[in-house]
Amino acid sequence: MITTEAAVLTAVNEPLEYTDILVDDPEPDEVRLAVTNVGLCHSDLHYMTGTVSAELPVVVGHEVAGIVESVGSAVTSLQPGDRVVGALTPSCGLCRNCQVGHPTQCGRIPEIRRRPRPAFAFPGGRAVERLGAIGAFSRHTLMRENSLVKVPDDMGLHVGCLLSCCMITGVGAVFRGARVRPGSTVAVIGCGGIGSAIIQGARLAGASAIVAVDLDDARFPAARAFGATHVVNGTSDVAAEIRELLGDGVDYAFEAVGSARTAATALAAVRATGTACLVGIAPDNAELVLPASDFFFGEKRLIGSYMGSGQAREDIAQLARLYMQGRLLLDEMVSDVIPFRDVDKGFAAMSSGEVTRIVADLTV
Ligand SMILES: [Zn+2]
Ligand SMILES: [Zn+2]
Repeated sequence: MITTEAAVLTAVNEPLEYTDILVDDPEPDEVRLAVTNVGLCHSDLHYMTGTVSAELPVVVGHEVAGIVESVGSAVTSLQPGDRVVGALTPSCGLCRNCQVGHPTQCGRIPEIRRRPRPAFAFPGGRAVERLGAIGAFSRHTLMRENSLVKVPDDMGLHVGCLLSCCMITGVGAVFRGARVRPGSTVAVIGCGGIGSAIIQGARLAGASAIVAVDLDDARFPAARAFGATHVVNGTSDVAAEIRELLGDGVDYAFEAVGSARTAATALAAVRATGTACLVGIAPDNAELVLPASDFFFGEKRLIGSYMGSGQAREDIAQLARLYMQGRLLLDEMVSDVIPFRDVDKGFAAMSSGEVTRIVADLTV
């Protein structure tokens, strides 16, 4: 057991509490990670503001990269000093969903995450929860061997961390979720971190038009740099603007905001037989009201994509190769690298249109 510093969420809408916690020793299949970098993700913010509920106290933070510090007795593929990023969707490889190739829907996640003792605890002994069994806003955490992917030596971990949530979610929604075909047309609603990753995915997939939609014009220069060919301000009638620009709706529309309103916009923006794909995390109990005729007369499809809908470890390794080839832009995604103690400030800055992703540096 070691003592480390963590940023603990003890009450919603309150600042994180920086305090010492105890980190358990690794189980046989786990490693202890010295966390170096964590991307600030809107899903963390959902828990911090209570729009999605979590058990408290909890350490949030999940878009994680770090250095392996010690390994459990059964770990064979990792050793101390390895530079790794997290693959956040655990899967057993054995249940029905895993067997048919949908590991993001593994039916045995609670079993996989179960540990004989809490991973984190206060010095007095009270357990501290970890969001998604990760708890990355801690200078050390425990992760299973099969939830980590080694990254190339010359990839900075401050950009590598983006692969574990933002990039796998956005690019995976394009490649595996909606399966965008070369030459097709795409709209992306919401151009923050995930939306920017979707735009990049659409570019890599060979889309012939990529329409970036956002309420904030300040996001458009970055969106164009990531591959957007057109931009539309979300305060307008988005579907009408897209038809005006392209002569028809798009083949694929991605919703990266997490609201019922933008989901309806995504469905309206696709042409007959097109696919709208929901990627943003909506608040608990959000419900959609949609025109039914879009589905039968228009033969539209509405799908969801969670964490890239795929084989996270393989996909992250692929994305790392695309980055090394200069085809996946990561450095451009990172608007700022901030000290660990400034995480609250970083979350407050995220609503700005100038920000694509903010990354915390846990080594300072
Ligand atoms: Zn995330
Ligand atoms: Zn499974």
